[in-house]
Amino acid sequence: MITSGEIRRLFSKYDKSRLTISTICSHSALQIFHGAKWLKFKTLGVTTPDRRFVYEAFPLAKPDIFIEVREFKDILSKDVQERLVEENCVIIPHGSFVEYIGAANILNRLFVPMFGNRMVLLWESDRSKQREWFREAGLKTPREFKNPSEVDCKVFVKYPGAKGGTGYFIADSAEELEEKIKRAMEKRLIKSVEEASIQEFVPGVRYYFHFFYSLMLDVGFRVTKGRLELLGMDKRIEPIDEAYRGLPNVPEEFFDYTVTGNQPLILRESFLKDCLDMGARVVLASQRLFPPGIVGPFCLETIYHPSRGFTVFEVSARIVAGTNLYPQGSPYTAYLFNEPMSTGKRIALELKKALESNRLEEILY
Ligand code: AMP
Repeated sequence: MITSGEIRRLFSKYDKSRLTISTICSHSALQIFHGAKWLKFKTLGVTTPDRRFVYEAFPLAKPDIFIEVREFKDILSKDVQERLVEENCVIIPHGSFVEYIGAANILNRLFVPMFGNRMVLLWESDRSKQREWFREAGLKTPREFKNPSEVDCKVFVKYPGAKGGTGYFIADSAEELEEKIKRAMEKRLIKSVEEASIQEFVPGVRYYFHFFYSLMLDVGFRVTKGRLELLGMDKRIEPIDEAYRGLPNVPEEFFDYTVTGNQPLILRESFLKDCLDMGARVVLASQRLFPPGIVGPFCLETIYHPSRGFTVFEVSARIVAGTNLYPQGSPYTAYLFNEPMSTGKRIALELKKALESNRLEEILY
């Protein structure tokens, strides 16, 4: 594994006055570049040739420099990484970055400094580690079943890795579950039953909370040495949301949980107490489990049920695509900043504050 010491040594050679914010051109890259440019950082986008025009189509979010690669994974090649170092790049990880490059590759092969604590990838990308993190945080989570025969309620079945919900399904009984797992194995969606994550199906309203844990700003909700900010929230749109349209005979393919978009959302104000409490617990647990813990943006994916309250079913420990709804800020950033503030700009602001106070090492790994 590439250690924080190695990253720090390399970073000490950087020309800090020419720091460049960089990521791969996908997911929330427009927002990241837009925010970085707003704060006058140089920007660099790693792109495949076919996507470049998308980033040229939005001049205010277009990176100053492009590096073209055949496929995103090529960012790991020595040539590309050396070029990124030459340009004094700090990489901002996002959902597609982690999906295309792979958590293990980032931990073992990416020697370019990254914003945040990359140890979080170990805890985020492995479902059993994620559960341990939630347990440490004392959060309510869906019941999990190791063996299909133990199932005694409606269940929700997921596959390893963040595949955006593709192929997930529900089952009402142990028999239905066994049948559907068999089919998933035939379709090679999973190799064995052990790979399927079988959770209790949680009914309710979904809320995806966008948090930012800052070590550089202090006035507000203090959590140990930093401040926890609620930057916004969204609800994901999935084909399942439209399933009622086909009633009474809904075709099976409508039971599809692939994320296709996001809707803005605000929370009943009296629930903000629960929301901020969950965020703080996740930060505190991360500091105990993998010091210095989570740094920067993260998202808690929750389901609210009137009598059960909030159940957390997933954490994304980096900027999420739902934040793309708020390039000029959200109803919540209006109470935190006197200027428009997207999550992308917030990342750049954290880097700017750390640069000004000579504390960049604390927020990079
Ligand atoms: P995930 O990959 O964990 O983000 O899940 C994708 C989608 O599946 C979510 O946005 C929810 O709509 C749904 N989902 C995930 N877990 C559960 C659960 N335990 N109960 C009900 N729906 C779920």
